[in-house]
Amino acid sequence: MQNLTILGATGSIGASTLKVVSENLSSFAIYALVGGKNVAKMAELCSVWKPKFAVLNEEADASELKRLLPSDTRTEVLFGQQAMCMVSESNDVDVVMAAIVGAAGLLPTLAAVKAGKRVLLANKEALVMSGKLFMDAVNESGAQLLPVDSEHNAIFQCLPANIQTNLGNCLLAESGINHILLTGSGGPFRYTDVSALSSVTPAQAIAHPNWSMGPKISVDSATMMNKGLEFIEARWLFNTNREQLKVVIHPQSVIHSMVQYNDGSVLAQMGQPDMATPIAYSMSYPDRIPSGVAPLDFTTIGELTFMAPDYAKYPCLALAMDACFEGQHATTAINAANEIAVEAFLSEKIRFTDISVVNERVMSKVCSANEFIQLDNLETILELDRMARNYAREFVRSI
Ligand code: NDP
Repeated sequence: MQNLTILGATGSIGASTLKVVSENLSSFAIYALVGGKNVAKMAELCSVWKPKFAVLNEEADASELKRLLPSDTRTEVLFGQQAMCMVSESNDVDVVMAAIVGAAGLLPTLAAVKAGKRVLLANKEALVMSGKLFMDAVNESGAQLLPVDSEHNAIFQCLPANIQTNLGNCLLAESGINHILLTGSGGPFRYTDVSALSSVTPAQAIAHPNWSMGPKISVDSATMMNKGLEFIEARWLFNTNREQLKVVIHPQSVIHSMVQYNDGSVLAQMGQPDMATPIAYSMSYPDRIPSGVAPLDFTTIGELTFMAPDYAKYPCLALAMDACFEGQHATTAINAANEIAVEAFLSEKIRFTDISVVNERVMSKVCSANEFIQLDNLETILELDRMARNYAREFVRSI
């Protein structure tokens, strides 16, 4: 029996994780559930799962949760980042699902890493923000890092065991790997003319054709910023150089990514577009457990198609790819800018096409300043994150 803390329990990945747990009740017990501000959802989860701890972001929400729980509850209710870190690093925890959205997930995820846990990484923004520092912490603590993002989980499944067990430290070429092919559906606007993108609504942008996800990652999928963040995530997880990492549009989302070897072989991982599959694999690796996901029926899939990304349609993708090899300052800045820009788009303050404008302006402002080039500690990274958010808010106001 392994004790599990779920960071982001009230979200979409949280729900899929609990779905996998419910298929495997003899293997996993819920130690702590962590959410942001969805008190009603957390109350519902506590009544079903009876965790030892439930943690929310704000004190007022934690008080409201206490009020909603029965007086004889065994769940202790806490709030704030410190409590989130405590339930991630506790000696009683074996596995931590890191699925808080955005930069808010960095500190609890790092706490789990530093405590040497098995960390199931969905919160790609943590790695994008702090790349080398994050991977160094994994190496120092001996934490076991398993990618949950469906693409990185697919790539992981197609890699040889020596790389799987030493993520971020191997040279791909030494294992005969030429390329990592990161697939992406192209989102809801893959067939929309570029000229029509300035007038798309938040509702249209979050209506992903294949995957059901939280609002931020859904907008990121529509701009393909998500693929850009994944490009940066892949660079750190698999230790790639720019030439080894390629993005391919695959609208059907049946293949979740591929690895191309020097003998001409290409290994792909396929499955339904359901996060329960990569989550189950990350929870059970190197074994397999049921995920509750229906098998693929190849007789009904139809055609699988592929194309190169159109960077005029997806400027955020091009920006993130440039940021990836520009340096930590660029990836921290673009991640922060994007969170503010997506929030502004979702609250209808800016247009869809303004997201890339905000990201580009913040990134060039940060890249033209020299003082942040050495981001080798958490404090300077967090300081740059705050500064980039402020720049982004200024740009949003000026639009
Ligand atoms: P959701 O928006 O559905 O869920 C986000 C979760 O984060 C919620 O539990 C939310 O709590 C919590 N949260 C937000 N802010 C805070 C905070 N300040 N403190 C604590 N918790 C907070 O997002 P997803 O589940 O879709 O995505 C989660 C992460 O997983 C993201 O990093 C995303 O990129 C990644 N991911 C998601 C995939 C998917 O299919 N959904 C696929 C691959 C990666 P509350 O709702 O209570 O405020």
